[in-house]
Amino acid sequence: MVIYCTSCWKDNPPGSTDCLRCGARLEADNLTFIAKLIRAVSRPEPLTAQRAAWILGELKAREAVEALIGLVQNSQEMGLPESAVEALGKIGDDRAVEVLAELITSSYLPVRIKAVTALKEIGGHRALTVLKKALNDPSPSVSRSAREAIEALHSAEMGTASRYLATGRGRCVPISIGPWSLPAIFWSEEYQ
Ligand SMILES: [Zn+2]
Repeated sequence: MVIYCTSCWKDNPPGSTDCLRCGARLEADNLTFIAKLIRAVSRPEPLTAQRAAWILGELKAREAVEALIGLVQNSQEMGLPESAVEALGKIGDDRAVEVLAELITSSYLPVRIKAVTALKEIGGHRALTVLKKALNDPSPSVSRSAREAIEALHSAEMGTASRYLATGRGRCVPISIGPWSLPAIFWSEEYQ
């Protein structure tokens, strides 16, 4: 695995002991490394926090979920919540679902769209319910992303690309179903 330098953030090849760029000693064990990144996420310098969030996402570090949620909730810096939301999606931990659901309705547009994508990556019943609700979002970008996310989750689950066509007022109807029966969640009366 690539080893990131926590001094200058260069990615060093696996097995490196010293950073190729700045010469800093690299963390031998991943636990110390991740702990440092988690500390960096709560640092006041936005760029440091943003890079740390990105790396934690790449590492799929579940230990960082709470810190990233904190970053999403407390940061006023442009770009930081986006990075934290992306990382939460890559990590794919259910603990982030409620926070992402909240963001879809309360944050600014780029974050809302990224929250939809993150929910797609996390998947599961609750994420799907939230995405279904987002189909009726007043922003066309959000509702379109939600539709794409539901399609992606559905085809991942069923191994087929069932298509949903948005109709007026955000309602959805299946236009091709294939030989599989639709799971109940897609067949709630809301969509019939
Ligand atoms: Zn370095």
